[in-house]
Amino acid sequence: MAYQPNLAHLTWPEVARAVAAGADTVILPLGATEQHGPHLPLGTDTLRAEDLARRLAARLPGALVAPVLPIGCSDEHAGFPGLLSLDAATLAAVIVDCARRMAAWGITRLVLLSAHGGNGRALALAAERLRRELPDLRVWLPAQTLAPDEAVLALAAEAGIAPEEFGLHAGEGETSEVLWLRPDLVRAEAAEAGYRGEMTTIVETLQRLGLKAVTPNGVLGDPARARAARGERYLEARAGALAKELLA
Ligand SMILES: [Zn+2]
Repeated sequence: MAYQPNLAHLTWPEVARAVAAGADTVILPLGATEQHGPHLPLGTDTLRAEDLARRLAARLPGALVAPVLPIGCSDEHAGFPGLLSLDAATLAAVIVDCARRMAAWGITRLVLLSAHGGNGRALALAAERLRRELPDLRVWLPAQTLAPDEAVLALAAEAGIAPEEFGLHAGEGETSEVLWLRPDLVRAEAAEAGYRGEMTTIVETLQRLGLKAVTPNGVLGDPARARAARGERYLEARAGALAKELLA
């Protein structure tokens, strides 16, 4: 059997052997179930989190990947049908509970890999609790959870994609990534631009008023020029940046 790090596909003796051979890290991917415009599925961030975890694990020898948590903190998407969302304290509690079990079978490093910026507060809460309750477990919270990585924006710029087009949500960036991951789930004919203004300063407004107030169709950016091949390059660049940050 080729080495495959997903806990959900391993048996307990295989996990025991992996840990005995030096596996000390679990990557916990965190997604969301929230609107991603009229053209992308609600599970967009879940798909992206799973893929990033796999790509990061390929760069971290001995890292295991936990099953993705498909519901996150997405209250900023209230008003759009299909939303599922947890309180930050609830998600933090789930993370802490899982981390306790991991520590019991030998894991000493936990990577909280969220593909959804709204999970940030829950991750910080969990990390803070874990520092107190499990001081021997190193918890790593990537900086790029909250903002698109510079390497990714540089790739977009090279292709002539402006930040307002790449977007923060369901724009060219995420649409390209889902076109690579699950083209069958992209409703290309329904793709349309949403808010196309300044993407950095709008974040505070989004957190305060929700996306509905800024973008009636739920899109921040413009998916028109999204391409699968570029989506794969974005995902690779994200994973590369994560590995660089983790191994620094
Ligand atoms: Zn997303």
